[in-house]
Amino acid sequence: MNPSENSAGAAADIRWSGQRVDAVEAGALPGLERVSGLVRSVRTPEFAGITFHEVLAKSALNHVPDTARMLPGEWTINPYRGCSHACIYCYARPTHEHLGMGLGTDFETQIVVKTNVAEVLRTELAKKRTLPDRVALGTNTDPYQRAEGRYRLMPGIIEALAGAGVDFSILTKGSLIRRDLDLLVQASRKVDVQLGLSIAVVDDELQHLMEPGTPSASARLATVRAIRDAGLDCTVFAAPFLPGLTDSAEQIDELLAAIEGAGATNVLPTLLYLQPGVKELYLAWVDREHPHLSAGYRRIYRDGTRASREYAGEFHARLRPAMLRHGFRLPGPEVHDLFALHGRRGKGSEAPAPRAAAPTLF
Ligand code: SF4
Repeated sequence: MNPSENSAGAAADIRWSGQRVDAVEAGALPGLERVSGLVRSVRTPEFAGITFHEVLAKSALNHVPDTARMLPGEWTINPYRGCSHACIYCYARPTHEHLGMGLGTDFETQIVVKTNVAEVLRTELAKKRTLPDRVALGTNTDPYQRAEGRYRLMPGIIEALAGAGVDFSILTKGSLIRRDLDLLVQASRKVDVQLGLSIAVVDDELQHLMEPGTPSASARLATVRAIRDAGLDCTVFAAPFLPGLTDSAEQIDELLAAIEGAGATNVLPTLLYLQPGVKELYLAWVDREHPHLSAGYRRIYRDGTRASREYAGEFHARLRPAMLRHGFRLPGPEVHDLFALHGRRGKGSEAPAPRAAAPTLF
């Protein structure tokens, strides 16, 4: 557990319907004072080790400030806070600290569920004089994490957005999105629907270590295929590439070949970004699991959150020919819209360049 953890794991042991059900007042749960609208906290054997804090949210739409790094001016919806997918590199982890919880184990096991999110969204959209141009889901925590199989919040959100005529995008690592494919196809007849799957690691052992709560890469690739077969576009976020672990020319090629084989419309590759808090967590994981990479990581991320220019240049030299070889165009220098079609499959792409040299940094 991260030293900053303030686990709310002492919440009452409550079961879903069909099992034992009780209600707990928010004030009765020490450590949850900053979780507003709390109705009850729930544990079930189906989700061992995870506590769900069910809240009645006052609002569903969040406006991302213009100062935000990735999505200036965007509107987002986060039906869940915290994420049981538990990716060690997850940049959303620090958002859990706003709830008075830790960014380590708490983020993965103390999941806040906005049970009324669809209803609140419908009300908000009905009241708004100016509707959002587009709403993004999955830019913070994953809307198709495992709990969605139980809570089924996404169908109501999709119906509310499509019904109001609001375009939307969904980014997920969850193959559970396949459950809602028919609904998404129906929505796409009314509004612009952009779907993205995030796939960073194809090696099963490494994926299990780094993203222990996620479906396998093969399940996610099959989801890309299912989305494409349903007639919708699907961007794959090849993200993040991890220095020393997934960044060799061979590994890049293997990932892009799998993505191409799944029929992805576009690829958006990004390098590991380590913001404060996550950086310490991630480096501690590297020290524990891959100590031979420790010095290299500290050199590459010596200046803060982003990889050094030197490393990024070497990585790009390996990425570029692989992108072209698999028919994907390279991203531009700035990412203002997560679905800005960086790496769109190119007709008339440049001819494949020779393979870049193997990485030299480790
Ligand atoms: S799926 Fe996304 S939100 Fe969830 S832990 Fe992984 S990176 Fe974070």
